[in-house]
Amino acid sequence: LGLMIGAAIGYVMGIFAVAGIPDGMEPGKAGVLAAEIVTDSSAYLLLDLLGDMFIRGLKLIIVPLVTTSIVLSIVNIGAQKGFGRLGGKTLLYYLSTSLISILIGLTLVNIFAPGSGAGGKGILEGRDLSAFASDQATVQSKAGGKTAGDFLNVFREMVPPNVVKAAAEGQLLGLIIVSLLVGYFLSRINTDLQTVIVRLVEGIYQVTLKITHLVLRLAPIGVVGLLAATISQQYAKLAPDQRFDQFITGIATFAGIAFAALMIHLFMVLPLILLLLAKVNPVRHYRAMAPALMTAFSTASSSATLPVTMECVEKRAGVSNKTAGFVLPLGATVNMDGTALYECVAAIFICQAFGVELTMAQQFMIVITALLTSVGVAGVPAASLVAIIVILNAVQNQLAAPAPMLVAGLGLLFVFDRPLDMCRTAVNIFSDSCGAVLIARSEGEANVLTGEAPA
Ligand code: ASP
Repeated sequence: LGLMIGAAIGYVMGIFAVAGIPDGMEPGKAGVLAAEIVTDSSAYLLLDLLGDMFIRGLKLIIVPLVTTSIVLSIVNIGAQKGFGRLGGKTLLYYLSTSLISILIGLTLVNIFAPGSGAGGKGILEGRDLSAFASDQATVQSKAGGKTAGDFLNVFREMVPPNVVKAAAEGQLLGLIIVSLLVGYFLSRINTDLQTVIVRLVEGIYQVTLKITHLVLRLAPIGVVGLLAATISQQYAKLAPDQRFDQFITGIATFAGIAFAALMIHLFMVLPLILLLLAKVNPVRHYRAMAPALMTAFSTASSSATLPVTMECVEKRAGVSNKTAGFVLPLGATVNMDGTALYECVAAIFICQAFGVELTMAQQFMIVITALLTSVGVAGVPAASLVAIIVILNAVQNQLAAPAPMLVAGLGLLFVFDRPLDMCRTAVNIFSDSCGAVLIARSEGEANVLTGEAPA
């Protein structure tokens, strides 16, 4: 209901803003003006505030929730000596599902070639790209000339020299590794001390859960705010903006393909894994995960959704805290099937738009770079765009001169980025949750998705 009310309010606000633009204005400027009319309105300010407070509430929980749940999970696993096995299975699941999703995207984008226009010419060939300049400059400044090598720095961040700073900056990967270490060695110290610390961590965990419940109770209101703010702004920006008219079929086909590929992964591949490998009823799992899917969809951030994902997987799907506490926080940063798929489709689409023919080897490189960068992408809105620049730079280095500047085509992605971001984030967190279910089942957990309320 929150999603629908938010979307409706946003739509109406967008229509009013567009109606307020003077006639005969240049379309590109009209879009910017309409978006300004929306963001200056007091309704927008209020809705944006509601949405933002909800996201801040979720983010507030992340650090204590991730650290305590991982420590507790690892202490429990450590006691049974299954850590290596669990870790191995988790990584195998993450890598293989991300790879499958990339391959789905790769196949569709090659079959439909949305970037190729009439006569096989790229839709951007010979076009004036100045209209994209400002959009592109914003993302590029974020990427700061990063190459694939720099992107691997995320692995460096796995060892944070200062754990307080890592927590303050929300560097989840570093925190996860530190929590793993703490949990592991906690399970190997003198039992008296161990009991004291574990009790303390458990206490903090319980309190964090209570706060999570409170924030979740406010979710419907937050979701109204988030959706209304996003949709009103997007509508106002795009409706009067005819800049993209000439490319619109290509861009819309691209968005359609990315969407279709995401949906194939979400509604065919992942449920098959649940059915065949985890041997559970996928419909039950969708039902259990509905709140998390909707939160992911409205926030476009896997990290912000993490508290809801954990709540759904543990309380509604019945996966133990031991498994979920380890698999989900790691998955929220490392396993992004939707993002990996989107990166691959988007990068190839831009190459097609410039009429650049990619060899098999170059496509293979895109697949691998999409896989690696999706591990490093942060779980925040629009994070993939930076990774796409990295991929395009890598392709660029392989092209013989004179070659078009591929990153200049990034503007094509802006039109549908937000709605696609909402969908890929939902796919990202759903894949994490399927991983938790699969691994829980393989560890012999019997209460997963049985339809009975878990204890
Ligand atoms: N918004 C995505 C997430 O948080 C990342 C991305 O694809 O931009 O999972």
